[in-house]
Amino acid sequence: MKTDQNPEAGQWLPIFMRLAGEPVLVAGGGPEARRKIDRLLKHGARVDVLAGALEGPLETYCQRSRINRIDRLPSDGSGYRLVIVATSHDGLRLSALAFASAHGIPVNAVDDPDNCTAILPAIVDRAPITIAIGSGGTAPELARMIRSRVEAMLPPSLGPLAQLASELKDSIRSRFPQLPRRRQFLGWLFRDAPAEAMQSGSPERARELANRALDDRAFDTTGSVALVGAGPGDPELLTLKALRLIQEADVIIHDALVDPRILDYARRDADFIDVAKRGGKCSTPQLRINNLMLEHAQAGKRVVRLKGGDPLTFGRGGEELQFLRSHDIGYSIVPGITAAAGCAAYAGIPLTHRDHAHSVHLVTAHGKNSIDQLDWASLAREHQTLAFYMAVSRLADVQGKLLAHGQSASTPVAIVENGARPQQRVLTGRLDRLHDLAVRYSVESPALVYVGNVAGLAVDLHWYGARPRTLADALPARSASA
Ligand code: SAH
Repeated sequence: MKTDQNPEAGQWLPIFMRLAGEPVLVAGGGPEARRKIDRLLKHGARVDVLAGALEGPLETYCQRSRINRIDRLPSDGSGYRLVIVATSHDGLRLSALAFASAHGIPVNAVDDPDNCTAILPAIVDRAPITIAIGSGGTAPELARMIRSRVEAMLPPSLGPLAQLASELKDSIRSRFPQLPRRRQFLGWLFRDAPAEAMQSGSPERARELANRALDDRAFDTTGSVALVGAGPGDPELLTLKALRLIQEADVIIHDALVDPRILDYARRDADFIDVAKRGGKCSTPQLRINNLMLEHAQAGKRVVRLKGGDPLTFGRGGEELQFLRSHDIGYSIVPGITAAAGCAAYAGIPLTHRDHAHSVHLVTAHGKNSIDQLDWASLAREHQTLAFYMAVSRLADVQGKLLAHGQSASTPVAIVENGARPQQRVLTGRLDRLHDLAVRYSVESPALVYVGNVAGLAVDLHWYGARPRTLADALPARSASA
């Protein structure tokens, strides 16, 4: 017989089986059999167990008639919907496999993928939503790992929300007979106010909101803006909340500093608007960014304004919030790992240390204005860590000002370029050669510059990417004066 199998589809067709009240045969009475039996009972199956001996808990199951013990295989198929072989006893294993095959019953054999015609996937249970993850029996460990990740992404409130939608199914249909409006309503139910109520542990409030919207045949679809921090690079540094909002967004307005790997988490059909703003060179003026947020939010879209690092640290997040407030657009804020924290961690630089630094200063050295307005006398003090943002083109000034205000020439410095990204570079040296160090290695934005004793610890404590480099490592040696 000719088959149309697409080689890329794999040979397993995922399928959900209704087993409530249906007979299932399990061969084996040990811990593995018990794990499978627990799953089967949870889904309402009637379990017959064929085993030489039953381990303790299974004996109790038997006494309480939760399972039924049989002594031998029946001569016919006995209506079994599924056979599970969970025993290392060869005779029992082979006869159970032969029984399933003879009667055409799907069989799952533990640790024996070649003899399986059915696989029990790893599942994420948000009943009535079930997500099944299969690896074709080849890598169950990997499937379990993926399950943990998916689990972390899906709030537990998902199940009750789906339950609520199912209870209200008939009213939703009659109130919104047209599909597009019904979809809008369900989108609102699953993502907006009712979802938020469910998430914050108020199912009654979620139900009340949904019922009220059904009574009025109206629900508030005004869009909103989430100001979300994307962290310094590594996508795993996103918070769970940032990840969820990115995945739910209709429109993502993002800066150049946002790592492209993070945008991959968004929906394929989301609108991506790149307002690349790098090192202060605005390719999209702030007013235009503000208007984009406004326009999409007013059109009822869920807008994520995604910023590198933390949205309220040197990111003009405050101005954007003031703008949104003045136009009465609802917003939420999700903090992110700011570059000073992220780059320090990925370079092995403790921002504070009992022997070296008792405070941390986040400083921007961007533009002549900030250079002139900073209190250099206090920045030049000892026992503190300075973290300079947007300073790459101003390092000669930073170095000059600190030295002029009495900071020791030998104070350790570190430059972290592309921190927490695969191409990260860490350069270490002393304050009087800071500018030379950057020139010698042609440092480019984005880079974070640390000044203070802790910067020197990167040499011993680094763990990510290449080891820190110094001026002495740079080849060929050439003079790099300002
Ligand atoms: N809101 C951001 C900062 C925006 S200002 C935050 O909280 O991190 C942009 C500056 O941040 C860059 O010029 C650079 O100094 C720093 N920066 C951001 N990401 C960086 C990274 N991955 N590596 C090094 N510096 C980074």
